[in-house]
Amino acid sequence: MRLELSAEDAAFREEMRTFFTTQVPQSIRDTVAAREELSKEQIVESQRILNAAGLAVPGWPVEWGGQDWTPLQRHIWHEEMQSACVPLPLAFNASMVGPVIAAYGTQEQKETFLPQTANLDIWWSQGFSEPDAGSDLAGLRCAAVRDGDEYVVNGQKTWTTLGQYGDWIFNLVRTNPEAEKKQAGISFLLIDMTTPGVEVRPIELIDGGHEVNEVWFTDVRVPAANLVGAENQGWDIAKFLLGNERVGVAPVGAVKRVLAHAKEWVGEETLRDPLVAARFAAIENELLALELTALRVVAHSADGKPHPASSVLKLKGSELQQEVSDLVVELAGPGSLASGAGDDSGVPGWARVATPAYLNLRKASIYGGSNEIQRQIIARTILGL
Ligand SMILES: Cc1cc2nc3c(=O)[nH]c(=O)nc-3n(C[C@H](O)[C@H](O)[C@H](O)COP(=O)(O)OP(=O)(O)OC[C@H]3O[C@@H](n4cnc5c(N)ncnc54)[C@H](O)[C@@H]3O)c2cc1C
Repeated sequence: MRLELSAEDAAFREEMRTFFTTQVPQSIRDTVAAREELSKEQIVESQRILNAAGLAVPGWPVEWGGQDWTPLQRHIWHEEMQSACVPLPLAFNASMVGPVIAAYGTQEQKETFLPQTANLDIWWSQGFSEPDAGSDLAGLRCAAVRDGDEYVVNGQKTWTTLGQYGDWIFNLVRTNPEAEKKQAGISFLLIDMTTPGVEVRPIELIDGGHEVNEVWFTDVRVPAANLVGAENQGWDIAKFLLGNERVGVAPVGAVKRVLAHAKEWVGEETLRDPLVAARFAAIENELLALELTALRVVAHSADGKPHPASSVLKLKGSELQQEVSDLVVELAGPGSLASGAGDDSGVPGWARVATPAYLNLRKASIYGGSNEIQRQIIARTILGL
């Protein structure tokens, strides 16, 4: 395996680095660097800047704004964005519903939705999970019953990330409760969240933030034209989407960045402590292994299809994110208890956000398919157990 970038790829990396560090406003990048919550406006502004330069949805088909890049170029784009503290394009739009509409949508759906999705004119939410239908997603119950040219939707979704900002939601719904296999009775429906009967209710998280929601549907009437693919084809589409979701999941750039910042935050003297140095070295070694694995996966992804090893990236990537957040809490020491203190306190900002960031990152091993499920995929498809 070659560990050095070719001259062209190195030039490409330089181009990305220059764009990200000069074109995306410093205030947005500072928010990411400080590990603080981004506002909706910041996320939208950043994505629109990327989209105007053709850098928001490079994985899409070229006719809809994608780039004919190699998998390695996409990897470099992704890494450099994270290193430069640029918010990644909204995953619901860029890596979930966009590719689905491009692959399964009608021409009209593509024309209506894809440009607005790339530019974040529409903010999408993901309506997959339900109480009792998370890992066992095929057990979902939210029902859509055909009535003339419309579906009538009733049910509940949960854990809907940033649903409070959502304009539209892509929902898995049960269209055939009689199907022999429960996977066979599911459809993929696009729902305007301003339709009467849609209600978003906040869920408060352990870090005090409002990041996830419940979404309730009561007699919500949805045009049948908003069905993506055929009726009852939703499970195939969901598998396609979830496969894409696991591409680019190894947050190597983000972990590197937090590690580098952590060194600046604590200073030379602390870094000379042998226990601290050993901890940094252990994480850096794991990070290097993850980076090499990510590059191997990139090199072996054919036709844009996710390699099964992407489950390894999800597993190790989330563990490393959590480990670094744990290290930062330890480095902050008693300061990590001061998350409620204001800017006028003597505790530096990085120490004040250490505990909320640590708590928030517990989610990384659950969403996008829990790590236990990833281990099963690895056992079955990679190790052949
Ligand atoms: C912060 C956050 C944001 C999310 N955002 C969204 C979103 O925007 N849209 C959306 O649709 N969903 C979202 N989710 C839902 C997420 O996809 C599910 O939480 C996840 O799939 C796990 O499902 P569950 O919560 O029902 O847990 P369960 O499936 O009930 O699992 C509970 C525990 O049992 C383990 N387990 C379950 N089955 C097995 C098994 N077969 N073998 C071994 N262990 C098992 C799990 O790994 C877990 O530890 C989000 C979740 C979180 C935490």
